[in-house]
Amino acid sequence: MKNSELAFLAQEFGTPLYVYDAEKIKSQYLRLQKAFDGVNKLRINYAVKALSNISILALLKNIGAGIDTVSIQEVHLGLKAGFAPEKIIFTPNGVSIEEIESASELGVKINIDNLSLLEQFGSKHPKTPVCIRINPHVMAGGNRNISVGHIDSKFGISIHQIPHILRIVENTKMQVNGIHMHTGSDILDIDVFLHASEILFKTAIQFKELEFIDFGSGFKVPYFDGDIETDVEEFGSRLSERFNLFCKEYGKELTIAFEPGKFIVSEAGFFISKVNVIKQTTSTVFAQIDTGFNHLIRPMMYDSYHRIENISNPNGRNRFYSVVGYICETDTFGSNRKIAEISEGDYLVFKNAGAYCFTMASNYNSRFRPAEILYKEGKGVLIKKRETMEDLLRNQILID
Ligand SMILES: *Cc1c(COP(=O)(O)O)cnc(C)c1O
Repeated sequence: MKNSELAFLAQEFGTPLYVYDAEKIKSQYLRLQKAFDGVNKLRINYAVKALSNISILALLKNIGAGIDTVSIQEVHLGLKAGFAPEKIIFTPNGVSIEEIESASELGVKINIDNLSLLEQFGSKHPKTPVCIRINPHVMAGGNRNISVGHIDSKFGISIHQIPHILRIVENTKMQVNGIHMHTGSDILDIDVFLHASEILFKTAIQFKELEFIDFGSGFKVPYFDGDIETDVEEFGSRLSERFNLFCKEYGKELTIAFEPGKFIVSEAGFFISKVNVIKQTTSTVFAQIDTGFNHLIRPMMYDSYHRIENISNPNGRNRFYSVVGYICETDTFGSNRKIAEISEGDYLVFKNAGAYCFTMASNYNSRFRPAEILYKEGKGVLIKKRETMEDLLRNQILID
């Protein structure tokens, strides 16, 4: 999207404002689809937790995606957006048996990631097929908070416990229709991922009724010019070839599944804020904006880098700024950033604001959560209203 279009939307809808580019979401989906055109059966289940607005879900539904959900509420959002239950997979971690049963009653695919629930679910519902989440114990991701495949991770059933899984399956006569792994975000090294895949294949061959193998996600997207990103085309061609070989060995054509979140929506998102105050101290020039980590927590929580541009003065002379929020504790979006000269009232835009941004927003400091806009066919359409005092007070009970 052009800076001028973003500035126009900020004028029209006010700030802070999230804007998502529908074309970019579609093109990322199609790019991944194309990278795997070497396999006959491909399913891309978009990870709802990255960006869960129901209009975004509907957009993805219309281009053929399925969804990956981690809570029963996300399952309901998916159904509300129009997904058929069989296009939804439920991949929770550490939830109750009741929550898994509720999802199962809705007809969605179930993915279980611990032995205790596998045994309970298998004993009670032997006729309901389940997918099993394996932990291959491979460190694929960059950041430890988002890397979930390591040995002391709480996710998945350890590959060292496969004999135990097989015993449960035999005792309960349950049907295992899928094998799954998700090693975490930010795959930098395709060879490491392919190594984890080999572990998954070794596991999969031991289950006789599979329909799909799910390789999770973790595609790394670029955050700045020249940043590294997963080469999905190379990854797609290498894994497809290996997958087809495995299917021959297995004796059945299986579906290959993925559940990308960040890859689909990260670069499609823009977060626009307005500069309230320019504060010059002896060492730093602060640009204080009309938002904070309540609306975009990734820089504070994961040390993530979001490009920041001044869309009100794009051709201005570059100067150094620390861009900070209005929350009453340390609230830094970026230190020592080179940005075109900023005046009070200018709009600053954060790039890569599609994934894990709005969905992690809160009402901390009793602020309203921003509005969300879907930009398509040259127009911005409101898909979530800015909150009001009424929203803040909803469900609060005044006793005195
Ligand atoms: C979060 C999550 C994803 C999506 O990860 P991205 O890095 O956003 O692509 C996929 N699968 C599961 C099980 C997840 O928890």
